[in-house]
Amino acid sequence: MSAALTARATQVSDAVGRPHAWSKACGVCRRTYDAGQWPRLPSVAMLPVQSVQAHLSVPAAWTVELRQCACGAVLAARV
Ligand SMILES: [Zn+2]
Repeated sequence: MSAALTARATQVSDAVGRPHAWSKACGVCRRTYDAGQWPRLPSVAMLPVQSVQAHLSVPAAWTVELRQCACGAVLAARV
């Protein structure tokens, strides 16, 4: 319950205070990482455009970077 409230408060403050800030949220533990924190997470893999394309039905134009959250979940972000 308190974790859900914290997550909601984080989203609100992000929307209000940093409207254009890049951030990535973990779907498992709800931690969020901004553009400065993301590169410090352990890198799991970089998926090149050709690899991403295999999973999409529309043209892919980005590389997907996989990094490990502090909780152990793997997060993906376009780079
Ligand atoms: Zn996590």
